[in-house]
Amino acid sequence: MDDAEKRRLKKFGKKLVEQQSRELEERLREANPAPIGSDEWARGYRSGIEKERQLRAAPPDRLTADQVQKDFVLLPVDGEGLGSLFGVPTWYYECPVCGDVLHSVPKQSVACNCGNLVIDIEAFQVASRSIEQVRLVKLKGRA
Ligand SMILES: [Zn+2]
Repeated sequence: MDDAEKRRLKKFGKKLVEQQSRELEERLREANPAPIGSDEWARGYRSGIEKERQLRAAPPDRLTADQVQKDFVLLPVDGEGLGSLFGVPTWYYECPVCGDVLHSVPKQSVACNCGNLVIDIEAFQVASRSIEQVRLVKLKGRA
């Protein structure tokens, strides 16, 4: 690799990082659109945190796309494969077809509404007809 190539890659990497944080920023603004620091924002922040707390206290095996849309914004978990079933209690799998999300640590085997995404806890398997489009996500509470 010559110096020009190194510089090019460094620039490219920086750009990627910037894009990711911009994307994250947009998601967070979507979760709580009030001006940052305002009273409304503070109220929204607390209500979002409360939704996340309730979710952590009693995580459902499945949240429908409507429930997700109403109370949460999805934050993609980058750089994680889909292979590990018993991942992290705050992580969910999103069905790319119907938008339901399944808990990555379900209490029992579970499928999304359209049947495209299935977690079989006896087979230790996450299965989907479009597995490459399944996203691992965290749920950020809406204001
Ligand atoms: Zn589905």
